[in-house]
Amino acid sequence: MLDAGFSARETRARLERHDRHHENLCAILVTHEHGDHGRGAANCARQFGVPVWMTAGTFSALKHELDGADVRLFSPHEPFAIGDIEVIPFPVPHDAREPCQFVFSDGDKRLGFLTDIGSITSHVVDMLSDCDALVLECNHDARLLRDGPYPASLKVRIAGRDGHLDNGAAAELLARVGSPRLRYVAAAHLSETNNRPELARAALARAMGCEPGWIDVAEQDEGLAFYHLSETWV
Ligand SMILES: [Zn+2]
Ligand SMILES: [Zn+2]
Repeated sequence: MLDAGFSARETRARLERHDRHHENLCAILVTHEHGDHGRGAANCARQFGVPVWMTAGTFSALKHELDGADVRLFSPHEPFAIGDIEVIPFPVPHDAREPCQFVFSDGDKRLGFLTDIGSITSHVVDMLSDCDALVLECNHDARLLRDGPYPASLKVRIAGRDGHLDNGAAAELLARVGSPRLRYVAAAHLSETNNRPELARAALARAMGCEPGWIDVAEQDEGLAFYHLSETWV
């Protein structure tokens, strides 16, 4: 399971909506210490009886709440394995201690996952090239953020180089990493105040040259459906 921003109870309920159960989990990976990613990590790890993986920097921010959890540390520069899955972490510019994002591979298919990134680096482009599926942050629409209700200092933080990706920057990234093997794209980490699903969808569809309906959007209450990245999967 990637990130744990919910309580153990809410996480269980969300897994069950997809006919999945916490007994199916073998590990929790935490990208960084911000509450929407790490708030539930300690409780989920303890209650589900699984290890929780994070960078040393993320651990330094969360360690006061991790008593009793089976914590495993990894370098954001070195791939490692959890069961049959190769986990390929990479560092990202974001205002946390040692944030990273991931590509996951079973040796055949590659899933790239990217949220909480303020600016795109060439390393990120390299890592996300040649994926079969991508989940990309579309945090905000630049104009909605600018004209919206957030305080000026928060707007600067969100739009800054260590903040979050807007729809246009996500689309630009997608245009750079899109490949013939790409079969699935979802927009994620949308702000409910500063974005609209249809804006994120339209931006990514323009970058792909596809119908907007082809792009999936993770909304905060519903999340995404469960997909198999297999030969038969469409
Ligand atoms: Zn976040
Ligand atoms: Zn964050």
